Amino acid sequence: MATFRQRALDEASMHETGRFFVEEGPVSKYFGQNVLDLDKMRGYMSQQAYEAVLASVKFGAKLDRGVSNEIASGMKAWAMEMGATHYTHLFHPLTDSTAEKHEAFISFKDGKAFEKFNGSALVQQEPDASSFPNGGLRNTFEARGYSAWDPSSPVFVMDGTLCIPSVFVSYTGEALDTKVPNLKSMHALSEAASSVAALFDENVKSVKVNLGIEQEYFLVDESLYNARPDLVLTGRTVIGHTSAKDQQLEDHYFGAIPSRVRAFMKDFETEAYKLGILLQTRHNEVAPNQFECAPVFCEATKAIDQNMMLMIIMQKVAEKHRLKVIFHEKPFDGVNGSGKHCNWSLTTDTGVNLLSPGKTPTKNLQFLSFYASVLRAVHKHHYLLMTSVASLSNSYRLGGNEAPPAVMSVFSGSTLYSVFQAIMNMKDIKESVASSQESIKIVNSIPEIFPDNTDRNRTSPFAFTGNRFEFRAVGSSQNVASAVYVLNSIVAESLNEFKAYVDALELAGEVRSSAVMAVVRRFITESRDIMFEGNGYSKEWEVESGARGLKAVKNVTEAYEVYHEPQTVELFDRLGVLAPNEVEARFEILNETYVKKLQIEARILGDMCLNHVIPAAVKYQNILIENVKGMKDIFGDSFMEYCASEVETLKKISLYINGVSADVESLVEARKKANRIEDIAERAKVYSHEVKDMMEKVRLSADNLEMLIDDEMWPLPKYRELLFF
Ligand code: ADP
Ligand code: MG
Repeated sequence: MATFRQRALDEASMHETGRFFVEEGPVSKYFGQNVLDLDKMRGYMSQQAYEAVLASVKFGAKLDRGVSNEIASGMKAWAMEMGATHYTHLFHPLTDSTAEKHEAFISFKDGKAFEKFNGSALVQQEPDASSFPNGGLRNTFEARGYSAWDPSSPVFVMDGTLCIPSVFVSYTGEALDTKVPNLKSMHALSEAASSVAALFDENVKSVKVNLGIEQEYFLVDESLYNARPDLVLTGRTVIGHTSAKDQQLEDHYFGAIPSRVRAFMKDFETEAYKLGILLQTRHNEVAPNQFECAPVFCEATKAIDQNMMLMIIMQKVAEKHRLKVIFHEKPFDGVNGSGKHCNWSLTTDTGVNLLSPGKTPTKNLQFLSFYASVLRAVHKHHYLLMTSVASLSNSYRLGGNEAPPAVMSVFSGSTLYSVFQAIMNMKDIKESVASSQESIKIVNSIPEIFPDNTDRNRTSPFAFTGNRFEFRAVGSSQNVASAVYVLNSIVAESLNEFKAYVDALELAGEVRSSAVMAVVRRFITESRDIMFEGNGYSKEWEVESGARGLKAVKNVTEAYEVYHEPQTVELFDRLGVLAPNEVEARFEILNETYVKKLQIEARILGDMCLNHVIPAAVKYQNILIENVKGMKDIFGDSFMEYCASEVETLKKISLYINGVSADVESLVEARKKANRIEDIAERAKVYSHEVKDMMEKVRLSADNLEMLIDDEMWPLPKYRELLFF
């Protein structure tokens, strides 16, 4: 057999284990060597320029032209020492990926070549960005978009290019990326959280968001990957029968890491360390060939930038290993998908983790205030928060009985849950509660919770894990900024309300601790419906969550309508995170992206059926026909006694061939019908129902054919080959 598949299998078997990125000595020796951090910057510019950068990093101060020239020239000097010849602004457009446009340092004047990089090139670049998604925020005649350095993220050198982490905005100033709203949401959250934290310690002036991002991914051999047009074009398999063995034995999770994979991991870790990414954890995940890595948590902007870089590094390093990294949330039907858990916490500039219960009643009261505010935020905006991670690719995973369910809830763990029960059950509670013995007892009774001791509930989309929340519904391919700015914003709103209620009670004469406790109790009681400690995958929870009024994200495009709700628009507007027209632009882009991605999937599915599946099936059908004919020649009328099973198979194959071919036609029709719909949101809805349903039908027949046809003739690498090295 010389099918494409067989050649790919032969090639794959030749791929060897090796190391391609090795550094001498301990990691600490080269950690961060490709990053120009504040410390190094000192050596490349005057004190004045350095202080300007510092002020910009710490307080968001604007850099003036004069000083920016000096900073740029310092950066250029460092970058050239590192072997850089080009520079690029690196930004996060609304595509879940990063964008870059490289410019050479080299320049000519009076016939002489020299390296040039001035302040204006650092502070602002003008990529011809007319083809980035903008949701109507730019007309093509005013297509300019600006990228501008975000000094809170240090520049670095990668592959001979000075990379400048940037924001991306339209000519008229609207955000065209995920970074701008995220930075704004962190500002809003810092203000709100500091005002609440200051109730307990007036020294608190700012609060920062921390993120620890766990990245799950699949690895597939490069040759096998290239023999699957669907993986190449969409990141997932649109057809493919499940493997006889996949994850049922649960032997992959935390198992020994295969040597080829371990070599790959060590290599990408080395490259990540050079960029200052503090990777700490690596292990096998549940599905075969599925893995996870996680860095130590850090400040949110940096964590997000680093995660985006990490995804790029992993893909680059994988090339050397003849592997492909698959970040798609559900590349293979029937086995677990991949997520990107976001561990989220808040710390004050005085160094206190606001989500960590402490040893003193004051610390615990503060902890309760923040916890209750998060509960209220997640309850009030549960549908928005779930929608913040909704995408076509993540929809194949969420609610799939292995991933977080499609409805939001908060898991607290038994210790805290009983504290909340006690708070809600406090009898005879008037406003004045903290003075009562009962509430003091409760606050005192909160034990210190060690992260390692928290009970884990893997079925919860949003779980408290001792000193942080773990938002588990985020998808593995996503730029988590769009989920994080939603989370930051809803919590900021809730904390602002918390403060306002406490202020009002204090104004009415209540003592502070008592006022705080009253609002904690109110928030917990009003948000009780979001708390769920049971099995999120169970049928009962589906029913009960509905009865509690919690809305599940059953259909992505319908969920996007939440961006039209006044509650959402006002939230972002009031906090200064996104103006109403920016929210509307995002709504459009989300729908557009959904349609485009599904359109590509539907097309490749059709192509594969017509160009791979049906021809292979017809070939085998002919062999069977020849066989039956021969049998008839030999046995005459009694041939059926000897080849009943071939005839049966022949019938099935013929029916499936007809089925696939008719269904592919209906699929094309469904797409055509949808494409005629002008309104993008309406078109997306039709795609999400009619096109998607038809794709499932096509797949079913194609997968049945895979099971019937001679293995030697099947042209596409099978699940068992893709999933097991
Ligand atoms: P698990 O898979 O058991 O949930 P991992 O070790 O894979 O845990 O990942 C946990 C992530 O949470 C790491 O990135 C870690 O640094 C991060 N993390 C730990 N403490 C905090 C915290 N207080 N705030 C934010 N992230 C945290
Ligand atoms: Mg983990």
